[in-house]
Amino acid sequence: MFNKILIANRGEIALRILRACRAMGIGAVVAYSEADRESLAPQLADEAICIGPADARRSYLSAPAVVSAAIVTGCDAIHPGYGFLSEDAGFADVVRAHGLTFIGPPAEVLEKFASKEATRRLLASHGLLTVPGSGMLRDEAHALEEAEQIGYPVLIKPSAGGGGKGMRLVRTARELEATFKVSRSEAQAGFGDDSLYLEKYLDDNRHVEIQVAVDRQGNAIHLGERDCSVQRRHQKLIEETPSPALSEAARRDLAERALRAIAEAGYENLGTLEFLIDSKGEAYFIEINCRVQVEHPITELTTGIDMVALQIRIAAGEPLGLTQADVKPQGHAIEFRILAEDPAKDFRPQAGQIGAYLAPGGPGIRVDSHVYPGYEVPTFYDSLLGKLSVWAPDRPQAIARADAALRELLVDGLTTNIELHRAILANQVFIDGKVTTNLLDRVGSAPFVAAGNR
Ligand code: ADP
Repeated sequence: MFNKILIANRGEIALRILRACRAMGIGAVVAYSEADRESLAPQLADEAICIGPADARRSYLSAPAVVSAAIVTGCDAIHPGYGFLSEDAGFADVVRAHGLTFIGPPAEVLEKFASKEATRRLLASHGLLTVPGSGMLRDEAHALEEAEQIGYPVLIKPSAGGGGKGMRLVRTARELEATFKVSRSEAQAGFGDDSLYLEKYLDDNRHVEIQVAVDRQGNAIHLGERDCSVQRRHQKLIEETPSPALSEAARRDLAERALRAIAEAGYENLGTLEFLIDSKGEAYFIEINCRVQVEHPITELTTGIDMVALQIRIAAGEPLGLTQADVKPQGHAIEFRILAEDPAKDFRPQAGQIGAYLAPGGPGIRVDSHVYPGYEVPTFYDSLLGKLSVWAPDRPQAIARADAALRELLVDGLTTNIELHRAILANQVFIDGKVTTNLLDRVGSAPFVAAGNR
């Protein structure tokens, strides 16, 4: 096992990894940017090191800054969290070249799954259904030709992408002509790679993902699914497990097929296979995330497995120590992303100082957050203030507990989406478990916010 891990991330996930290290008796050093000095993880850590200025390109995204911080502080492994360098094969390779361990899949595995377009083909060859789409697009004429074959509407997707950047919906050839170059330059600016592909746009889909864990010895298990259909602008807001969209048989079938495909494809460590389920119940693979997910707490709540500890143990070369039969998810869990953004103003991010702050408590309540009263939310990063997760024996009780917890949760000083969450919980479509990923974008947040004013 490692002696000391450098935590190369920020916010709530840096704190989550710090807690895992402490629980495992492993030393930890939190690497932070100048803008994050006052954040909870560097404040609570026994050891912390500044790795550069607020600009992530010169701190959290700088391989030389991160690797030298690990060496200077005597760490033998680096945990990249999510985002930033967490899926960067080149970084994982540099970490290894310096005699350190990257906590995540080995560089070769990250390389194999780096292109979303190539991953689609790879997993299709291992038996997963993918959304009808194109290969890599050569130019605009090629895109028009492919879109004609697939049939409009189509989504233009950056192959190196993530976070919805550069992803564009086009309904006609004319729209495609108007959008293609913009998407290409957004992809280049966002990911340093302008390769694009097309996917047929599925209306009224649900987002369901399967969590897997594979050790170096080749043992593979799945930890069930998460339903992430409550989204705004194609980004997740609320996640729950089990998915209300799947029958027991469909759930088992999807998880088993996903696990078989990914194990055959040579995966290692934690991974999440994302699927869209169409109105007929057909599940189409869209992408894999080769890291711990933001929404991992709900899986921890239902399975009782510490996923960050599992990830660290796999990276250290230890066997899973679990078989599929040991994974017995219980009850229902829901996570709410608490964001500093204004739902009434097009979800515009908010910055500023937090005034009063109170985290809820009680049975089945979990809060993962790096903020506290007086904390100044920096403008440089994402708007995630923390996550509220709830567990209960069944879905109706989980919804009731969640509403009570959201009422208790107090974040003064800036606008958040807490009330939007309460309004969504009270909405009949959510209660019926029938939310599709386009719901909020189609109707806007206004009806939800209005319904929430009880
Ligand atoms: P990113 O990695 O940029 O977040 P994903 O490929 O994971 O992009 O897709 C994010 C979300 O975008 C999905 O959860 C879904 O809401 C929407 N989406 C992606 N692909 C499609 C598709 N082919 N049809 C309809 N919606 C899609």
